[in-house]
Amino acid sequence: MDANLSKRILYFKHLIRILFDLINKKLLYIIKYTMERLYRKKEPVLGFGVNLFTFEEALQYVHNCLKENTGMHIVTINPEMIAIGNKNKEFASVLNNADLTIPDGVGIKLALKIKGIEQENIPGIEFSKKLINICELEGFSVGLFGAKEDVIQKVVENLQNKHKNLNITYIRNGYFDDEQEKIITEELKAISPRVVFVALGAPKQELFIAKIKPFMPNTIFIGVGGSFDVWSGMVKRAPKIYRTMGLEWLYRTVKEPSRFKRIFPALPLFLIRVIIEAIHENLVK
Ligand code: UDP
Repeated sequence: MDANLSKRILYFKHLIRILFDLINKKLLYIIKYTMERLYRKKEPVLGFGVNLFTFEEALQYVHNCLKENTGMHIVTINPEMIAIGNKNKEFASVLNNADLTIPDGVGIKLALKIKGIEQENIPGIEFSKKLINICELEGFSVGLFGAKEDVIQKVVENLQNKHKNLNITYIRNGYFDDEQEKIITEELKAISPRVVFVALGAPKQELFIAKIKPFMPNTIFIGVGGSFDVWSGMVKRAPKIYRTMGLEWLYRTVKEPSRFKRIFPALPLFLIRVIIEAIHENLVK
């Protein structure tokens, strides 16, 4: 064979291989990434996807699901949850399977900023309040599960005073043993409120939701952490100035020094890891 021709064939083969590799890896990655950003707008933060919706977009998304009778699991993610997810595989998989993950608190907002993404903070407690408004206005039933008995009773009283037409169909405190958990599960399945607010703290609330969700396909679940304590009036939220400065965590730590151990070293370590991840991502781009 002509030396020139075999050289050309080799060159052609090489080109095909490069093209194949490109299509296989980069192109697929680019398509997947673009599709996700366009339709779900999920961005990984230390391996955990966070939806890049604005507050209004996220609320609209949930509102649509309510109108279409679709169930979902909403996670309000923060650095403490990511730290738990790094150690607990089951929890990590629950977080990554959430239908909507909203960034709750300054930690995730900062992490995304480090990655060059401007994202507004969506406090789970405020998002949940808006959901309560929608439920009252449009007649969707609500379940409240979690916190201490006196706390949940006060929450119900306050909500009923403020939202006269809110249809609360399930109320249960968050302290239970295995036997009681079975009863709670059966009760919830039978009543199937359209939205269930679960206030057991992370990871307990997310693990509970993941277990029960397959049996309640038309229910929207949201883990709300310590929100019932605030709604009951027994715990005060940080003053607005702290919230606008992204220092709500500092206020809560000063008020509840036992939280110090949870935040430190988790929060600074989280930011260091995010910076390392961002540098690595830039290097391999
Ligand atoms: N809680 C509960 N059952 C439990 C443990 C906790 O109902 O077994 C409640 C607790 O009473 C509090 C909430 O879960 O109302 C957790 O609040 P925390 O401030 O720890 O949650 P965060 O907002 O930090 O996720």
